[in-house]
Amino acid sequence: MQKKRRRMAMRIRPARPMRRSLGMRLGAGRKTRMPWLWDARRLAWMLGGCVLLMGLFAYFRLPKEDDTLPPVASNVTIRVYNHRADTVETLPLETYVLGVLAGEMPASYELEALKAQAVAARTYAYAKMIGGGCDRKDTDICTDSSHCQAYCDQQARKEKWGGHFETNEAKLIKAVNETAGQVIYYDGKPIDALFHSTSGGRTEDVENVYANALPYLRGVESEGEEGAPRFERTMTFSIQVFKEKLEKINPKVKWNRNIGKSIGKAKRFDSGRVDTIELGGQTFTGKQVRSAFGLDSTNFTIEAQNQTIAITTRGYGHGVGMSQVGADAMAKDGSGYRDILLHYYTGVEIAAIQIPSP
Ligand SMILES: [Zn+2]
Repeated sequence: MQKKRRRMAMRIRPARPMRRSLGMRLGAGRKTRMPWLWDARRLAWMLGGCVLLMGLFAYFRLPKEDDTLPPVASNVTIRVYNHRADTVETLPLETYVLGVLAGEMPASYELEALKAQAVAARTYAYAKMIGGGCDRKDTDICTDSSHCQAYCDQQARKEKWGGHFETNEAKLIKAVNETAGQVIYYDGKPIDALFHSTSGGRTEDVENVYANALPYLRGVESEGEEGAPRFERTMTFSIQVFKEKLEKINPKVKWNRNIGKSIGKAKRFDSGRVDTIELGGQTFTGKQVRSAFGLDSTNFTIEAQNQTIAITTRGYGHGVGMSQVGADAMAKDGSGYRDILLHYYTGVEIAAIQIPSP
């Protein structure tokens, strides 16, 4: 038995050096014979390893869209006229954009929609800054939404959001920071970044709403808006009120005893919005009717019912540029803010703000 064990031990022993590392074996065995070959191999392995690692690194660190944007200019300030407090303040541009975002879009919207809105708001402000500013108090912009852009300062945000202040504030700051310094350009100039609440399915060519045609404000499809609160709305008016409101605009109207016969056919744009409509034998523009009855949009139908007139609208707002509800729908569907902006503003570019030299 003992002999056998010893023999096995003898047999096992020579195997021991095999357990040493590859490098030791190669180094010990071939050092004296071909040192240059070993060095060349080691070098080749190391180089190959480096190339492989660099390749892997580059693959997993492919630049995201945002990385391609130039660095952010965070020191830009804007002079703001607060029309409620009748004061003028100089604010960092991004602080101002945060206030506009809170004033112009519900904080409950998707982050990417909020980011798109932040870029649109910044672009609007930037275009004002370099384009002569707001004529009120000689400032860059004012807080009157009917004149420039809505603005909600931090105190107003606290009042508006109550217990949700912390969450909403963090979300909106993220939207502003992740797009800081980015604006929308067309042909090298910041665009007139118009936006509205709900398009009702299709946005509008700008010249159908405002005087001038612009190549980047073209009507586009806006999907996924059907569930929005103002997608469709019906308002009813007494026949008397209906007549009076239109008589104020044009006293020449003549009403048929059957009021239904006084409601003519509408001439519509491709989007469905009313260009003109015959009412009481006179021609009214869609905009006149919208304004007279306080309608959500110019995409409407008028129907005479028993003793009332029902006006049903589709969408909410002028319909030009970005639809906020459409942007939110796109974001829910996985689109990023850049996709959203490039969809609603035709042929534009998103790039860093260019600071005008003083
Ligand atoms: Zn203004």
